[in-house]
Amino acid sequence: MVAGIVCLLASCAKKPVKETRPAFCADSAYSYIEKQMAFGPRVPNSAAHMQCAVWLIEQLRACGATVELQKGQLPDYRNNPQQIFNIIGHFSTPETAGRPRILLTAHYDTRPWCDEEEQYEDRQYNVPGANDGASGVGVLLEVARQLGNKIADSTFKTPVDIVFFDCEDMGTPQFYTGQERENTWCLGSQLWAANYANIQSAGGNLAQQYQYGILLDMVGAPDAFFPKEMYSTQYASNYQQQIWRAAEQLGYGAMFSNQQCYPITDDHYYVNAVAGIPCVDIIHYDVRNATGFPSWWHTRQDDMENICPTTLQAVGEVVMSQL
Ligand SMILES: [Zn+2]
Repeated sequence: MVAGIVCLLASCAKKPVKETRPAFCADSAYSYIEKQMAFGPRVPNSAAHMQCAVWLIEQLRACGATVELQKGQLPDYRNNPQQIFNIIGHFSTPETAGRPRILLTAHYDTRPWCDEEEQYEDRQYNVPGANDGASGVGVLLEVARQLGNKIADSTFKTPVDIVFFDCEDMGTPQFYTGQERENTWCLGSQLWAANYANIQSAGGNLAQQYQYGILLDMVGAPDAFFPKEMYSTQYASNYQQQIWRAAEQLGYGAMFSNQQCYPITDDHYYVNAVAGIPCVDIIHYDVRNATGFPSWWHTRQDDMENICPTTLQAVGEVVMSQL
């Protein structure tokens, strides 16, 4: 099933300069995004969210991963317990099992409210989440498929964990007038990072040491712009430089800008600050907009119209160049 995806859209991806490029198929990533969208918004506690979670587990297994479901709960912005289901796919071979791993992450939940909509009545809708959620997951599912190929043809070198975080986008809505709680965003990564820190402080698990991590968030827009995010610079400067240099060498220097941007509260913050794993955020952020985020961010316009295979190809190749 997974291996049979045909590259129909490859012709619209501009082919940049370098001769040998990392294997990655944007059409396949695009189809993984479409599939997530077909479930409907993946809002936590909804049927679509659960169906998507089951499908993600199946996809990772089909690519050769050992899959773990991490369950837990944390308080939401109103202090109600929120169920969390993180999905973790471990990729390794007997030869690579002891080596430090690379962590690849994205969030698979979508925001329950379009609270950046101008009209009050539009704010009650769920964010469709083509970019904010599905794009990062779509790219990583295609990375998973490529890892499966590498295992099959014995070119697999670095063990990888792909983690799909839950409940990233449950942060306090703009329209909430009650008392503001801290740390209401990124609940899935908070759970994962606290659990990891506990294991490490209890002596650690050598089979679970990471070199570093990469977080993908909103990586599919036609006009994607990835400046160097500040927490990534603060905690994982070497790896950020390494990734941005790889992007430049692949011909994606305009998209992966050397411009520095503000720190952004995203899943990588907890991976860095709580788990202690250097982690770099690749996130669409543009200082030309008032919010810093694209105009479709947290609105009903975050749909397939704003997903472009050329961007997926760029991000996918950059990630694959690290593996
Ligand atoms: Zn969001």
